[in-house]
Amino acid sequence: MQAVRTAPVVGRQLRRLGVGSSWPRALLGQPPLGLARRPYASGATQAVLEKSDPLSPEASKQEKQTKAESKSFAAGMFRGQLTTDQVFPYPSVLNEEQTQFLKELVGPVSRFFEEVNDPAKNDMMEKVEETTLQGLKELGAFGLQVPSELGGVGLCNTQYARLVEIVGTHDLGVGITLGAHQSIGFKGILLFGTKAQKEKYLPKLASGETIAAFCLTEPSSGSDAASIRSSAVPSPCGKYYTLNGSKIWISNGGLADIFTVFAKTPVTDAATGAMKEKITAFVVERSFGGVTHGPPEKKMGIKASNTAEVYFDGVRVPAENVLGEVGGGFKVAMHILNNGRFGMAAALAGTMKGIIAKAVDHATNRTQFGDKIHNFGLIQEKLARMAILHYVTESMAYMVSANMDQGSTDFQIEAAISKIFGSEAAWKVTDECIQIMGGMGFMKEPGVERVLRDLRIFRIFEGTNDILRLFVALQGCVDKGKELSGLGNALKNPFGNAGLLLGEAGKQLRRRAGLGSGLSLSGVIHRELSRSGELVVQALEQFAAVVEAKLIKHKKGIVNEQFVLQRLADGAIDLYTMVVVLSRASRSLSEGHPTAQHEKMLCDSWCIEAAARVRETMTALQSDPQQQELFRNFKSISTALVERGGVVTSNPLGF
Ligand SMILES: Cc1cc2nc3c(=O)[nH]c(=O)nc-3n(C[C@H](O)[C@H](O)[C@H](O)COP(=O)(O)OP(=O)(O)OC[C@H]3O[C@@H](n4cnc5c(N)ncnc54)[C@H](O)[C@@H]3O)c2cc1C
Repeated sequence: MQAVRTAPVVGRQLRRLGVGSSWPRALLGQPPLGLARRPYASGATQAVLEKSDPLSPEASKQEKQTKAESKSFAAGMFRGQLTTDQVFPYPSVLNEEQTQFLKELVGPVSRFFEEVNDPAKNDMMEKVEETTLQGLKELGAFGLQVPSELGGVGLCNTQYARLVEIVGTHDLGVGITLGAHQSIGFKGILLFGTKAQKEKYLPKLASGETIAAFCLTEPSSGSDAASIRSSAVPSPCGKYYTLNGSKIWISNGGLADIFTVFAKTPVTDAATGAMKEKITAFVVERSFGGVTHGPPEKKMGIKASNTAEVYFDGVRVPAENVLGEVGGGFKVAMHILNNGRFGMAAALAGTMKGIIAKAVDHATNRTQFGDKIHNFGLIQEKLARMAILHYVTESMAYMVSANMDQGSTDFQIEAAISKIFGSEAAWKVTDECIQIMGGMGFMKEPGVERVLRDLRIFRIFEGTNDILRLFVALQGCVDKGKELSGLGNALKNPFGNAGLLLGEAGKQLRRRAGLGSGLSLSGVIHRELSRSGELVVQALEQFAAVVEAKLIKHKKGIVNEQFVLQRLADGAIDLYTMVVVLSRASRSLSEGHPTAQHEKMLCDSWCIEAAARVRETMTALQSDPQQQELFRNFKSISTALVERGGVVTSNPLGF
């Protein structure tokens, strides 16, 4: 219990030492997310390409701007470009003071989770133990990114990532309680709040005296967040809104005092004068009256975190509690979710680290057939793959957090990839750990089955991985589509656009002719990794050629080609992850890090397999006629199942 006694001291220390960070400036500087960036909506697919007829001339102006501004590697790879600014060298963003401060936090926070928190007990009780909650509040864990002058710890994204990694190592249920509070619950106040809203709400939220929740999902509105029905009607005097509606599956819904709520409000269109329903975000206090919640939901995992329905019945919300602009709620919601994604990847990198230690421990001690099982090739391959997945996820989490700390406004595709990859990698790693542990892995006592249960939700909430895959592919296609439209214009005026033609069209012609594009990573990666660098470049060229061919073929209709989009997203994920690990391993080799050669193996192994996957998928998309047959079959089989209400075939015995 020593950590409990030290906790208040650490809490005071956290607040006192809270260093200023660049993150709020960086994030507030982000350009507004228009419809083209609606990862959540089922109209998401349509919306993402709404403004992006690949061959329309209107897009050309925007295209030049995008090309001038975009530093995103992920966006660039859809255009067949190596945009290396954000990925090479692997970023180191913490100054000496920030590093020192973080080092001082890591020890006590780790000790707290090792000595005080009991994840099995939390899971069994289906709530976080009071001692844990109290200790976390004392530690300052409820206000990690709140500026120190408002009572928080004032961490930048990278520092935050390091601490949530520790939480993810130990207890995902606690992680969701903390994350629902600060990563989404009150993040809107940090990003969009007025000075008055920040001063009123953040100090108590940072200390944990009040708890926050994020209320978007409704019974009829999940991925299609734009379809919410909750309404907030302004009073004739304009002083307040009357909020009605119900939200489901709200993390911290039964504990929260402060809610970020999204509701439809009537908004007059400035151009036409017509009245439209648009989403607005509100900060709602439970104390306003009319706010109630249902019982805690019974769930498969993250049982310790509270999930409940929340009802708003005639709640009078003062007009000054509008968050952001009236009618700008969708933008608020998407910004909040985008900004939290790196944290999920960091937490899950921590989960994997803990799980890998358990798998190694078992493999080292278990003897079968007269030998320790770690000596068997099948176990070795599992352990190696687990280590690779961890390395990729960890490298990506800190790449994205660093990009955000550097003030990047162009990280949405990368953040989505980190969430998709981290949640799937953690699942695979934990599943394989159970396999390595055999029957023991299935038992409650080692605690791995709990982690597997806890992990399942990460592929579903904060944008399902399916919707995020569509987002990754379509957002990349939007940028590529703009370039193609620019090319159309350039061809009409070849002399005025010589540069564009010589540059982009030249690359396209070379790609179509099967020649290399002349791209190379040789100047930015360590020479020991040059073979992997070549694999990435070849994969990227093939990927970009397929993107281009599919856009030319389907034009706007690409939004409906989900079989293709899924494969493009998977290609994009493989490409971005390869580049991230190349960057990190290069830095380690250049700096002579003690684990550099091990990292080289992790990196090379990942690149060999990821490049092969891209090659296989892109070749099939490019030229395999059976691929089209496969897609038609998927559609027909699924339709038949739906018509039949289940499997179509009868039992081979005939009854
Ligand atoms: C434990 C838990 C905690 C949660 N916490 C919160 C919270 O704090 N705040 C909050 O607001 N919400 C929260 N949620 C809700 C969560 O964000 C939603 O469950 C999620 O957004 C998915 O919505 P849905 O469940 O309605 O699935 P649906 O949107 O109905 O989707 C069902 C399936 O269809 C797929 N799908 C949907 N549309 C398309 C499409 N256009 N193309 C292809 N596939 C599609 C989806 O990917 C998914 O596989 C929580 C949920 C859970 C279970």
